[in-house]
Amino acid sequence: MPVADIEKRRLAQYYLLYKSVCRYCGATNPLGAKKCRRCKNKDLRPKRRGKK
Ligand SMILES: [Zn+2]
Repeated sequence: MPVADIEKRRLAQYYLLYKSVCRYCGATNPLGAKKCRRCKNKDLRPKRRGKK
C-alpha cells in the first residue's frame, strides 16, 4: 500500500533508510553507532537508497 501523504512518506523513508548495516552479520544499527550491537564488529556501512 503506497503512502499518500508526502510528509509521512518522507518520515517513513527517514526511519527506514537512515541506519547503519553491519558488513559482517547484516544487522541494522543506529546511524551513529560505532560498532554492531549484535556481533560487536566495527565494520559498519551506512544504509542508503539503491537509486540515485
Ligand atoms: Zn554485526
